[in-house]
Amino acid sequence: MPAIPLVNLQRQYQRLAPEIDRAIQTVCARGDFVLGRAVEEFEAAFAEAAGARHCIGVASGTDALHLILRALRVGAGDEVILPANTFIATAQAVWCAGATPVLADCDPRHALLDVASARAAITPRTRALLPVHLYGQPADMEPLLALGRERGLHVIEDAAQAHGAEYRGRRCGSLGIAAGFSFYPGKNLGAYGDGGAITTSDDALAGEIRLLRNWGSRVKYVHDVMGFNSRLDTIQAAVLGVKLPHLEAWNQRRRTLAARYRTALRALSPHVRIVEEAPWTSRHAYHLFVVRVRAGARDRIVKTLQARGIGAGIHYPIAIHRQKAFEGLLDGSHRFPETELLASEALTLPLCPDLADEEAETVIAGLTMALDAGASEGAPH
Ligand SMILES: *Cc1c(COP(=O)(O)O)cnc(C)c1O
Repeated sequence: MPAIPLVNLQRQYQRLAPEIDRAIQTVCARGDFVLGRAVEEFEAAFAEAAGARHCIGVASGTDALHLILRALRVGAGDEVILPANTFIATAQAVWCAGATPVLADCDPRHALLDVASARAAITPRTRALLPVHLYGQPADMEPLLALGRERGLHVIEDAAQAHGAEYRGRRCGSLGIAAGFSFYPGKNLGAYGDGGAITTSDDALAGEIRLLRNWGSRVKYVHDVMGFNSRLDTIQAAVLGVKLPHLEAWNQRRRTLAARYRTALRALSPHVRIVEEAPWTSRHAYHLFVVRVRAGARDRIVKTLQARGIGAGIHYPIAIHRQKAFEGLLDGSHRFPETELLASEALTLPLCPDLADEEAETVIAGLTMALDAGASEGAPH
């Protein structure tokens, strides 16, 4: 592991160890490992944190999106529009539901689903829009919700990177018909393994999803509909229950570090461009701090940073429509120029609540040096 990793989970555990260990032991002592008390408690707390009436814990963020689509009866023959610039799970969740993922480009400033591009992708088979609050920043929900109303489409949030983020003062997770969250360990709120949740204020939808995650069963051995085995583990829920009260402070720390990066990186313009904060973003959750560097210089910059113990990352190096897994599944005629530019220019700097101020300075110094070494290489788009 580099001296300054992209995310430092060990430090967080060290600080919370007594509480986390106790929470895990409590579950073990009770023995309610599946859909136990800690799941119910966490669901109630997370629903409130997301500003939604219901939270349903599931096995992963991918399953969260998948089950939302199933519950909305979006499946074979239906199309779901999502940004080409996202983690592949967004598209795979649509595939899991049997529906067809249809990609739209992102906007060049915020790297989020471009509303005009989403509108242009609508066909008579489109059933839902699936914007992603990417890097911890809310997608522009008002025009997307208006588009959904106008064309009769569900609007589902992929909030896997946006725990605690806010769009015009409203929590991500409370904006669309339902939202999918991931508790993958490196997310802003992370479990000690896989986990996910759905938030929604639609009572019927919540009930349907509760059935789907548990083999279509409300009462043991009585099965009303077909379903899946996709429950949030009780031990994971217990870990999340310890962490949730810290989420606000952790996100605040992320914003403080991001502001520090922004100020320092201004001096490196135009060789480094920052993915901007949008005017509608009242709270950025800064899951990732992404900058852009010239495509031809990126590999060298990443290597230089790594040689100095700085774990830079790339989110994401290969756009979905360029992935072999999606060959033949997507309409190949479409081009997503902004997404492709980002795939070649994006560079993620280490950022997590446990990154120390001095470490942030080391990252900035490392990036400055790496850029100086190739000062003639030009600027990103
Ligand atoms: C992490 C992530 C997912 C998937 O979550 P898992 O819990 O890993 O299944 C979905 N969408 C986005 C944008 C993500 O970052």
